[in-house]
Amino acid sequence: MKQFERYLRNTPPSCLRGFKLKKGKFARDYGDEADTTSSVWQIACRCGSSEGKFLGHPLKDYDDEYDDPDFISPLKFECNKCKAITPILDTDKHGYHADLDRREGEDDGGSCKIRGKGKPKEYVCPDCGKNIFKIKAGFVFWNLSELEESFEDRWEDLFMVFICKCKCVGCGEVVEPTDFGKL
Ligand SMILES: [Zn+2]
Ligand SMILES: [Zn+2]
Repeated sequence: MKQFERYLRNTPPSCLRGFKLKKGKFARDYGDEADTTSSVWQIACRCGSSEGKFLGHPLKDYDDEYDDPDFISPLKFECNKCKAITPILDTDKHGYHADLDRREGEDDGGSCKIRGKGKPKEYVCPDCGKNIFKIKAGFVFWNLSELEESFEDRWEDLFMVFICKCKCVGCGEVVEPTDFGKL
């Protein structure tokens, strides 16, 4: 593995800084296309517990034409043990385009994604209706050689795709509650 690719695979993006992290894996590798790689992290609360609620905003509350249970950001994790709430991702601040804007000094973030407002809601398992999950967060990077040449630092924050896999503690089903497309 090239050195830069190894760096991306082993360096968690700053949006996960509130968590204890373990390197994880998805069943399918999202970094298998040419000049692409991904990093996957099993998240746990600072207290050590990896089980909790997945908080976010149902897209259908913001878009009438939408019927799926997908969540939009800000996404958070509420620990089932100590109840601490830790941010996972905010599309206004995180991901390639938002990070690029910040690097260029535009404070307001460049997200064109719809973003939730107000109190977040709990994601509920579509299979069993329970709300406690173990969560893996994945980040996909494209055009590695261009990325490495165009930037001087914090490449780990320049991910184009965010993937979240939540394993229901109740029934074992793995659900993907978000679908942001290109960030
Ligand atoms: Zn905790
Ligand atoms: Zn379930």
